Amino acid sequence: MKVIRKLLILLLSVSLLAGCEAGYESSENTQSFHTVHSDGWQAGSLLVEYIDVGQGDSSFSIFPDGEVMLIDGGEVGQGATVLEAMKKYNIQKIDFLVATHPHSDHIGGLAEVLLKMPTEKVILPRIADEDVPTTLAYENLLDAIYESHAEVVEAKAGLELYKKNNLSVTCLSPTQGSKKNLNNYSAVIRISYGDTSFLFMGDAEKSVEKQLLKSGQELCSDVLKAGHHGSNTASSEEFLQAVLPKYAVISAGTGNSYGHPHAETLKRLQKVKAEVFRTDKQGSITAISNAQTIDFNTERGRS
Ligand SMILES: [Zn+2]
Repeated sequence: MKVIRKLLILLLSVSLLAGCEAGYESSENTQSFHTVHSDGWQAGSLLVEYIDVGQGDSSFSIFPDGEVMLIDGGEVGQGATVLEAMKKYNIQKIDFLVATHPHSDHIGGLAEVLLKMPTEKVILPRIADEDVPTTLAYENLLDAIYESHAEVVEAKAGLELYKKNNLSVTCLSPTQGSKKNLNNYSAVIRISYGDTSFLFMGDAEKSVEKQLLKSGQELCSDVLKAGHHGSNTASSEEFLQAVLPKYAVISAGTGNSYGHPHAETLKRLQKVKAEVFRTDKQGSITAISNAQTIDFNTERGRS
């Protein structure tokens, strides 16, 4: 009950903007915080880095104006890896931190990140009371959000998180109601920048994919962060036919006990001719979009 109450208190403090269909834009006065620079990112480009956090999930994006969005933070103990990865770009502040769903391989590292990096907004799904987990990782996350004083925004289908200069970030899922399986609460995020687009599935499984197909929302995306670490429970053929990814990124740990990614998923990705990048094989993977084309770099080469 304690955890349910904490989640409720946080979500009751949700900004009125979260319920606003039109969404909002980042305020201009936050710009001075961004001193992002590196060889790989320059103003006007969108950089997405899928961080190698072993068996887990974490990625951050630097928008063309320098705003930063972090989606998930790997297992407990991986917060340092995430902070280190962002340090390469001299990131000093997170504008949007998305905690896709309350499994420790996604949120475990986020408490450390929240306590060490100023964070403007935290986006997380509302979990039905009967599904709220009572894990220490989840409780630590809620405590860290509270301590960070970040604004809390409810992740839900139809939320427009950001829209500025040819770049928009939308949340396509979850919808309301009990899901029983926490994976299906995953905040599904799509970034569109000019002619290019990126879809982040969290651990959403096939039932969510079906809902997304029915919803009529734009799914077609150049880069798909495959759902649930490339598990056979996600990336159905119908869904892949709608997304038509040119590239798929799979975040999985070397020799993980789940056998992720599953051979069936890899076969389906091959069928839609997606080039597959894997953190277990290539380490961290970086994609840079200039609004027309996307270039990839990986820590350990391209296979
Ligand atoms: Zn996971």
